[in-house]
Amino acid sequence: MNHRYSERICSTQKSFIREILKVTANPEIISFAGGLPNPNLIDDEGIQKAAAAVLKEDGKTALQYSTTEGHPPLREWIAERYRIRYGLTVDADNILITNGSQQCLDLVGKVYLDKGDAVIVEDPGYLGAIQSFSMFQATYLPVPLDEEGPDLDCLTGVLETSSAKFMYGIPNSQNPSGITYSENRRRDLASELCEHEIPFLEDDAYGELQFDGVARKPVSAYMDGEGILTGSFSKIFSPGMRMGWVCAPDAVMEKILIAKQASDLHSNYLSQRILAKYLEENDIDAHIAGINKEYRKRAEWMVSKMDKCFPDDVHYTRPTGGMFVWLTLPEGVSSGELFEAALKRNVAILPGTPFYADGGGNSTVRVNFSNSDKEEIEAGIEIVADVLDEIRNS
Ligand code: PMP
Repeated sequence: MNHRYSERICSTQKSFIREILKVTANPEIISFAGGLPNPNLIDDEGIQKAAAAVLKEDGKTALQYSTTEGHPPLREWIAERYRIRYGLTVDADNILITNGSQQCLDLVGKVYLDKGDAVIVEDPGYLGAIQSFSMFQATYLPVPLDEEGPDLDCLTGVLETSSAKFMYGIPNSQNPSGITYSENRRRDLASELCEHEIPFLEDDAYGELQFDGVARKPVSAYMDGEGILTGSFSKIFSPGMRMGWVCAPDAVMEKILIAKQASDLHSNYLSQRILAKYLEENDIDAHIAGINKEYRKRAEWMVSKMDKCFPDDVHYTRPTGGMFVWLTLPEGVSSGELFEAALKRNVAILPGTPFYADGGGNSTVRVNFSNSDKEEIEAGIEIVADVLDEIRNS
């Protein structure tokens, strides 16, 4: 009865990363493929204490149904952080708690996209977003990135010749390229989008993972209250708790709320209560600073090993935040071939192709540094360099 499936499910690909994660669960494999936060930096003891306190003090309520918007003190905590860090004028009513920030992409897709509608995406762009919007049978208008952010000439061309529902982007440590938009580019992008009345869906999954600790103003801050921001506790608290949020202007929030009600009534209330308790009882800023210190070290280990082992015609980024190094391979070496050969030697990397909405990117690779120790990073990169050499000489 397979002919009964919807067009949308038949036209959407499986997530390449989530498929690879199944392979890399094998402990013999050094995996640079996924994007897992380092488990040693998850404060399981602190979370255990917060969970015990919530269950003891208010267990019956915490285990009950709750509101669609989410736990008010948690929404207030997020709004206050926006006000303090970025000077945004938002309050708790502009915040809705989601099941990870991934769910925001689905909800915003539901609010804006009908079959065939276009979304402007970064090229390369986050493949989880491409998959999510594909569920609404979206089409893509990819805009390339330079070292300061989206290419504005190209964006202007796109805006003048096509009609997009919104633009999706990741201004801090973009996944996969690692690029952080400059302040000027943020401002210019905001004014270009406002002029054409195109909403910006701003994914800030890595805003707190900045090695210099600087809080950069979101693009939304320059959009006169019109931006839609998403955030995540996955990288600074726990990905398994699936806690994220969307911050949106009142009118958009009204629509998002309907989409959320229809999707799952509300996010896991016990998780929200545990998170709120954890934030009350712990110094999250000190915790985040500790994560950044560790990730910066790991990024440096990886890049300095690449400096030693890779030939000059392999290009790679020097991360200033986030969890990834982005490689461009020399002419004639395909990332798929490198992936297959490295996996045979128990090292997993991620070919860059699924990050390109319209195809391409055959010579690009994403490697994760957050979830490996120094020995694994050094041994793994040496194997990748070896395999690359073998491919070129074969
Ligand atoms: N956005 C980006 C850019 C991501 O990299 C990720 C996860 N890797 C997500 C959103 C989703 O994260 P979560 O649902 O855990 O918040």
